[in-house]
Amino acid sequence: MNALQPHSETPTNGQEDRYLASTHDVVNQPPALANYNLFEQDTALQEAVIREGAEAATPELKQFGALAGAAATIDLGFKANSNKPVFQTHDRFGHRIDEVEFHPAYHDLMTIALEHGLHSSPWTNPGKGAHVARAAKYYLHSQVEAAHCCPITMTFAAIPSIRKQPELARDWEQRILANRYDPRNVPDGQKACVTIGMAMTEKQGGSDVRANSTKAFPVGAEGPGQAYELVGHKWFVSAPMCDAFLVLAHSRGGLSCFLMPRWRPDGSKNPWQIQRLKNKMGNVANASSEVELRGALAWMVGEEGRGVPTIIEMVAMTRFDCMIGSSAGMRQAVAQATHHCRHRSAFGNRLNQQPLMQNVLADLAVESEAALAYTLRIARALDNQDQEHERLLARLATPVGKYWICKRTPNHAYEAMECIGGSGVMEDCIMPRLFRESPVNAIWEGSGNVQCLDTLRALQKEPETLDAFFREASEAKGADRRFDLFLAQLQQDFGDISDIQYRARNLVDRMALVMQGSLLLRHSDPAVADAFCASRLQSAGGMNYGNLPSGTDAAAIIKRATPVVG
Ligand SMILES: Cc1cc2nc3c(=O)[nH]c(=O)nc-3n(C[C@H](O)[C@H](O)[C@H](O)COP(=O)(O)OP(=O)(O)OC[C@H]3O[C@@H](n4cnc5c(N)ncnc54)[C@H](O)[C@@H]3O)c2cc1C
Repeated sequence: MNALQPHSETPTNGQEDRYLASTHDVVNQPPALANYNLFEQDTALQEAVIREGAEAATPELKQFGALAGAAATIDLGFKANSNKPVFQTHDRFGHRIDEVEFHPAYHDLMTIALEHGLHSSPWTNPGKGAHVARAAKYYLHSQVEAAHCCPITMTFAAIPSIRKQPELARDWEQRILANRYDPRNVPDGQKACVTIGMAMTEKQGGSDVRANSTKAFPVGAEGPGQAYELVGHKWFVSAPMCDAFLVLAHSRGGLSCFLMPRWRPDGSKNPWQIQRLKNKMGNVANASSEVELRGALAWMVGEEGRGVPTIIEMVAMTRFDCMIGSSAGMRQAVAQATHHCRHRSAFGNRLNQQPLMQNVLADLAVESEAALAYTLRIARALDNQDQEHERLLARLATPVGKYWICKRTPNHAYEAMECIGGSGVMEDCIMPRLFRESPVNAIWEGSGNVQCLDTLRALQKEPETLDAFFREASEAKGADRRFDLFLAQLQQDFGDISDIQYRARNLVDRMALVMQGSLLLRHSDPAVADAFCASRLQSAGGMNYGNLPSGTDAAAIIKRATPVVG
């Protein structure tokens, strides 16, 4: 056909020249992955929620899954990220205001998260499945937009630390746990609900917070619960519009933890001043800032000189949330990649029918399911801290999982992006956002090496943690020869502790793998467990995704992971 002729289906009513502008039909493009139920379309999640004790939450999770998958909710994530937060030092009359302005979409996302108790439910309704249900909800919500989950996590995680100072907890806890959002830049005394941040990192040291130079001067009496004024700086403070922050500073008795509100009780502005916002490559919807404390009023939390052990209670929970967030990032990447390849054809066949793409997709899905299984197992351990095995397991498996799952995410996001081809690189696709978000969880809340060192610290202080870890992993013994060999070798390698810091990454990598293998063998689809053992526990040398061996039931794995939309 002549290129200038109208399409055969184009009406020829004498206006042919108008139709010459109709250059082509849009074909071979997938429908948008929207208006679907993130929970109902996630078999691995549904199974894990039941397995780990949160079956009762299933109806609620179904409702929340529909909300998270609604096109309007997904759109909030795009809007919150394409409109960066803007910092205003002063109002137009010259008053210092230290105000960060967010796009309304950010506030809408915060509202959804807080109204659904993502910051509160295991504290307000503890018991069977509470952490598991909350983790599942967080997993769904952060697939929509991860950055605003930072203040949600910090607010949630602050509770165990604040409870170390009961009179402060009495004053703050109810407002922290209220399922409401009040973003106004007004004194917390005027609010029925508040959010909490944390300020530890300084220029000279983030991992090594003992190097903090911020000083705390007593206003009157000294010690736990007493008022101090803080002078110094903080190099990273995320979500600076939080109503109060847990801050580390040196008092006379050493590095201590303080609760510092943004306003003083008399309604004046507490003198902590935001210097500027960080210019971040990812995590864009969330503001992070540099701050100076110029005599900011704060109250000591917990024992004087025990600031790190006090705030570590909060950090332990934020580390757990990093695992949920990175698992969620992987799940959304798999959903996007499998959805695209289900609809897209090349060389005469659907991409998800092409053997080489099947290998890549299935491998990505295995990684994602392994991360989820591990994360929700730790959630169950958090629900059962009164049981010694669960306490020991959570202590050791949290740094292991935080290290491993967060570190596996960037390459996973990149591979999923490649499955989508060129359109996966475009900003109107969620993949660039997932990719840019992916390194952050590995770096903050204790970077990779710090997690490995924390694993060693746990082993040294409580050697029983390793027994609990291996006891749990060994529950899959006998289910797969490759698993048994891998486990035995790892156990043997812990017999030699020479050089252990140098070898820590290798050991922690393998701890994560053995636990993931154990969980998948015991609980997942046999095709997923088999693929995991073949590719992660018995390596044939390939390092990239797409290295599942022949004989893997890739089609079954892909089917299990693919959301059916359109
Ligand atoms: C987006 C974003 C938001 C943040 N928000 C906050 C916040 O709200 N509040 C807050 O307090 N902080 C925040 N941080 C800071 C973050 O927690 C720190 O960046 C992190 O703890 C690392 O500290 P650092 O940057 O000083 O690096 P360093 O401590 O200098 O570490 C650099 C590298 O050295 C490694 N390392 C350190 N010690 C050892 C060792 N002994 N052996 C081997 N390797 C080691 C680390 O793992 C890391 O890879 C944020 C960071 C980012 C990126």
